[in-house]
Amino acid sequence: MLTKIYQLDENNIDMKFIEEAANVIRRGGTVVFPTETVYGIGANAIDANAVSAIFTAKGRPSDNPLIIHISCIDMLLYSIGEPLSEKAEMLIKKFWPGPLTLIFKKSSGIPLEVTAGLDTVAVRMPDNKIALKLIEKSGVPIAAPSANLSGKPSPTSAFHVINDLEGRVDTILCGKDSRIGVESTVLDISGDVPTILRPGGVTLEQLKQVLGEVYIDPGLTDNMTVPKSPGMKYSHYAPSAPMQIIVGEADRVEKKIQQLIDENRLLHKKIGILATEETKNKYKNCTVISMGSRENTKEIASNIFKALREFDEKKVDIIFAEAVDEKDMGLAVMNRMRKAAGFHMIEV
Ligand code: AMP
Ligand code: MG
Repeated sequence: MLTKIYQLDENNIDMKFIEEAANVIRRGGTVVFPTETVYGIGANAIDANAVSAIFTAKGRPSDNPLIIHISCIDMLLYSIGEPLSEKAEMLIKKFWPGPLTLIFKKSSGIPLEVTAGLDTVAVRMPDNKIALKLIEKSGVPIAAPSANLSGKPSPTSAFHVINDLEGRVDTILCGKDSRIGVESTVLDISGDVPTILRPGGVTLEQLKQVLGEVYIDPGLTDNMTVPKSPGMKYSHYAPSAPMQIIVGEADRVEKKIQQLIDENRLLHKKIGILATEETKNKYKNCTVISMGSRENTKEIASNIFKALREFDEKKVDIIFAEAVDEKDMGLAVMNRMRKAAGFHMIEV
C-alpha cells in the first residue's frame, strides 16, 4: 500500500493534513500519529474492520487489547459501561491529558476486537496537540497501540515509524521525538485497590500522592506469574541481538561488564553496552550507548527505545546493559529493559 507521509509542527498545525488524516480514519483506514509517550498507529475504535487492520499492519497477536485514545470526556462516556467513579474523576483531573491509561468496564459501543474479547476497556487522553486534533476531527475515539512492528522497541521518532510501517499503513503524521519516550502507565481501578498493570509515564510515586495505596501487578516483576495486562506477557521491545542486564552495586557492575566484554571479544563478537553518562567512558573495545544520567530517570526513559534500536543499526552480536534504579521513571525503564532482555539478569 502507498503510505502518505506528512510533517507537522505541533505549535502551528497545518489543518489540511489533519482533515485528510481524519478522513482516512472515518473511512476505516490506519493513521500513525505522534503522542507524548510513543508514536501510535490508530484506527476508528468503533469499526471492527478498521481495528483489525491495526493488528495486520503491526503483526500484533489478536489477544493483545488496544488502548482507546479520546479528545473529550463525551468519548470516554461513550466507551465505558459504568458511571465515572470518584477515583476515576480524581485521576482524570490530575493526569489527563497525559500518560495514564485507565481500565473501565466496556460499553457495547466498543467492539470486542479492540479489547481482545475482554469486558473491560483501556482509555486515555494523549497530551499532544496533533493527536488531539486528529481525534477531534475524526469525531470518533481512536484505538491505537504503539506504531512499531510487534516485538520491536516502541517508536519514539518519525524515523522509527517510517522504518517499521511505511507501506503497511495509509498515512503517517510526523511530529517531534516523543517527549516521554515510554508508553503510558496502565492502571486498573476496577477493584478495591488500584493496580498498576504496566508502569509508564505517570509514576507510582505520583499515583500514590492522589490515591494513597497503589498495588503493582506481581506479574510485572517475575516471569513466573501471568501478568493481568495481556500485552505484558509477550517478549517485547527487543533489539535483534540477545541482551543481558547486570544488576548490583555500581563498581561490581562495571567490573562484571568489562569481564564479559573481554570474554566475548575472544569469541570475536561485536559487543554493545547500554551504559549511562556516568559510566560510558569506562568500557573499552565495544560499542557503548548512553541512556542518559543515572540521576535523571526521565532522561533515561526518553532515550531507552532509541538506544535499543541503535544497537540494531550498529549490528552488535550481544548486548550487556547496566540496570537502573527503579525509582520514579526507573520502574518503567527497568520493566522495558527486562522484557527486552527476555528476563535475562546477572546479579553481582
Ligand atoms: P500498546 O498499545 O502497544 O502500548 O499496548 C497496550 C497495553 O495496554 C497492552 O499491554 C495491553 O495488554 C494493555 N491493555 C489494553 N486494554 C486492556 C484491558 N482491557 N485490560 C488490561 N490491559 C489492557
Ligand atoms: Mg506496544
